[in-house]
Amino acid sequence: MATDKLLLDSVRDYIAQIREEGMDGLPMKDRPISSARDDARRSAIVEKSTSAAVAPPAPAVASVELFSKYPGLEKTGELPELREFIGNCMRCKLHGGRTNLVFGVGDPKAELMFVGEGPGADEDAKGEPFVGRAGQLLTDIIERGMGMQRSEVYICNVVKCRPPGNRNPEPDEVEACEPFLFRQIEIVKPRVIVGLGTFAVQSVLKVKTPISKLRGNWHEVRGIKMMPTFHPAYLLRNPSDKRLVWSDIQEVMRTLGRPIPGRK
Ligand code: URA
Repeated sequence: MATDKLLLDSVRDYIAQIREEGMDGLPMKDRPISSARDDARRSAIVEKSTSAAVAPPAPAVASVELFSKYPGLEKTGELPELREFIGNCMRCKLHGGRTNLVFGVGDPKAELMFVGEGPGADEDAKGEPFVGRAGQLLTDIIERGMGMQRSEVYICNVVKCRPPGNRNPEPDEVEACEPFLFRQIEIVKPRVIVGLGTFAVQSVLKVKTPISKLRGNWHEVRGIKMMPTFHPAYLLRNPSDKRLVWSDIQEVMRTLGRPIPGRK
């Protein structure tokens, strides 16, 4: 049955992903994998990559509801003010293991935003997202692939502190941190978000659909178009899938009305 196949694909993708991330076992606790029908209801898969329309914003996670978790968050006007609001954050257990909180980097008025999962060891040490090997590949995608400067885009993560041993962030950690990501999105107001990898995309869209099924299609996050694609760390191990990421990136460039380098 189609639902069983989707579940099987989800499990396969998840196991492949945790292997890529260096984990050698399954976490004991996790959210149940939701049914394909649930996913279809929640996920705003709004179009194939060939068309330009997007679905109306999903009302389920209204600003009011999300931001009521941290009164005053909705009033933060600029990114420095938001960073100040977050402060020396101890709102979840990740704070205990961090060296630096990794807020985000780039143009505060960028039309393009990249959202990853969470800082790794290099990012934790430097306080900047995507500065390790995967980060270098992301920078190459932006600079050599897209012909843009890294400083022209905005880069951040779903969680701002490094999960120990590079494990996936846990649901309570995502819940504690995601209002900050959503406020970053509202402040930067990019035209397009690129979601990097299974975890970031599934967390933001609240689905369990495998990234292999989500990528290449436009979705919507808080009224903004989002293109999911593979995580650069995955590409380091599966370079043959770079062509799929390139296809997603070209679709993003077309939507932004930017020239595709090497094309007349
Ligand atoms: N992987 C991520 O998802 N984010 C980073 O900042 C670095 C690696």
